[in-house]
Formats: sequence, structure tokens, C-alpha cells
Amino acid sequence: MIRWLQRFLGIERTPTPPAPKEPPSSTYKPIPPIESQGFAKPHFRFFPGCYEAEWHGHNVFSKSSETCDVCGKRDIWRYNGTIYWTLPEETIVCAQCIFEERLAALVPEDQQADNSEARLHAYSLHDTEVDEFDWRDPLAVEVRSRTPGFPIFNPFNWPTSGGVPLAFMGYGDEEKWKAVPEALAAMKEANGGEDIFPCPYLLLFKEVDGPLFKAVIDPD
Ligand SMILES: [Zn+2]
Repeated sequence: MIRWLQRFLGIERTPTPPAPKEPPSSTYKPIPPIESQGFAKPHFRFFPGCYEAEWHGHNVFSKSSETCDVCGKRDIWRYNGTIYWTLPEETIVCAQCIFEERLAALVPEDQQADNSEARLHAYSLHDTEVDEFDWRDPLAVEVRSRTPGFPIFNPFNWPTSGGVPLAFMGYGDEEKWKAVPEALAAMKEANGGEDIFPCPYLLLFKEVDGPLFKAVIDPD
């Protein structure tokens, strides 16, 4: 009867459909898609074989679907080496971020002042220095901050030639050196003129654009 009366008086309203229930906003925020980094493999001239490098079951880099803590992208070549900084060991870093020297972005702000010694020393990928250069020299920074590290027993002086750092090529017990007389000669020279190949306590370096090899003894 009421509906009839409403219709008669012209005040009947068509019932509005109930509004769809909105989910509680805190629970259902859409997750933004994580951009793919595309497994970029930038070339490191002072460590050209870093993606293939594997010693005692440890790879310097491993292909990973994880997300880099620096660039926030997934599908990366994850760096497995030691980073000398104040951040947790499990921090995930990709090859491209090392190459573009972006790791300092994660370092706390008080270590980040521009152009200061603190910024240049915010992190290092090596427990070593290039004694020939001032620590501010761009080549020293490239070795320290933009060249992937490798396992060593002791800090050493990174070898140079003609004012340029040499490239790390591997250890003194690798089969490949049998066919490289320059490498065998460099090991012999580092050992006081006596043959020492094969020996795992030698680090082999080579000119980036030349045939010269140098060996550094890294005793256990
Ligand atoms: Zn990254």
C-alpha cells in the first residue's frame, strides 16, 4: 500500500543498486610490476672474464630473477663477491649498477657528501689499492668501485703498465696458461726466476690492449 501511495504522489524512486563494496584500501593496494633489468652484462675492462669466472664452486656473478637493491629491477646478473661497506652482506647488487657506479646510492647519507673523501671511499669491491695512483684518480676509482672483485688471500698492489691498471685474467693454476708463454714467463719472474706453474697462489694480470702479463704472488 505504501508503494502505491508513493507512486500516486509521484515520489517513488527506482531503487538504486547497492554500490559495490570497496576493498579496504590498506589491504588491496595494487603491486606495481617490477621492471626487468634484462640480464645486462656490461663489459668490465679490468676483469673481462668475470661472468665466466668460477673458483672452488663460487661464481663472481650468477644469473638471477631476484631484484637488485640499487636499481630495483629484476632479471639481473647478481654480484656474489665481497663489497667493503657498512651495508648488510645479503644486499643484492647487479652488474649494471656496479658498471654505472651506482652503489653509493645505498650508502648512508653521512658518508655521501659530494666530492669528499668519504664519498670516494663509500664502498670498495676490493681489499686492495692501486699504489701508483692517488686514490682520487679516476683509474683508481674505476678499479676500486667499478671492477668486480675476486677471492684473494691478502691485500696486494694492483699492477699497472704505462699509467693504466692491468686487467685481472685469473689464477696461476688454470690450464689455459699452458698455451700462453707470456703468462708462464710472468709467473716465473714473480717467483724469482724459477718455474712455479701450476700454482693457485698467483694472480695473473694482462695489459688491456697489449700482450704484457704480470703475476702477483698471493700466499695462503
Ligand atoms: Zn641494479
